[in-house]
Amino acid sequence: MNLILLGAPGAGKGTQAELIVEKLGIPSISTGNMLREAMRNGTDLGKQVKQYMDEGSLVPDELILGIVAERVAQPDCANGFILDGVPRTLAQAEALDAKGVRIDHVVSIEVDDSVIEGRMTGRRVCSNCGASYHVVANAPKTEGVCDLCQGSLIIRKDDAPETVRHRLEVYHASTEVLKQYYNQQGKLRLIEGNQDIQSINDQILTVIGAKA
Ligand code: AMP
Repeated sequence: MNLILLGAPGAGKGTQAELIVEKLGIPSISTGNMLREAMRNGTDLGKQVKQYMDEGSLVPDELILGIVAERVAQPDCANGFILDGVPRTLAQAEALDAKGVRIDHVVSIEVDDSVIEGRMTGRRVCSNCGASYHVVANAPKTEGVCDLCQGSLIIRKDDAPETVRHRLEVYHASTEVLKQYYNQQGKLRLIEGNQDIQSINDQILTVIGAKA
């Protein structure tokens, strides 16, 4: 089961990816989390991507493709994987196809921009493992502490309102064409993302044929 989650920043891709990981036991590959980890660790990649990430712009395709190709070749991806936040451009999607990375389903979580802007103010992410929470809709058991690894929860720098608006513009300009691309391949499924987390998850599992 090789799955892509599409959707604007804040649409709930990360949250749904975590639920699918629990249900199907396949890893979630979030390029955003990988890049943030590279920045935390001060690697060359981290230094190269910092400015793009801080301003909410897309990191160049070749940097992304390198880390994704390497990651999907790891043994834990043998039974499937979830791509969260990648591909984000038509060039990335075409490159995955060219590299022979098979994709079974593409699920787009659809949420209006006005709803997204409201949501982002409540988003918190784990500074250690990258898990995401929302202070109201998906609160951690203990305020400020990650349920999964006990890391401390922080506000992402690129969740500032002006950066969110820029990220939404970037999303619509670059990523919407992907829906057309995967629709032509007969793989695209649209899910209404302005619902509670569990309902969205039930619908995703249904459209990918994984509902028990
Ligand atoms: P995310 O956590 O998915 O919202 O990604 C945060 C930031 O990481 C984005 O605003 C981009 O700067 C960068 N990024 C993550 N994934 C990609 C990608 N597939 N292509 C280009 N930039 C990306």
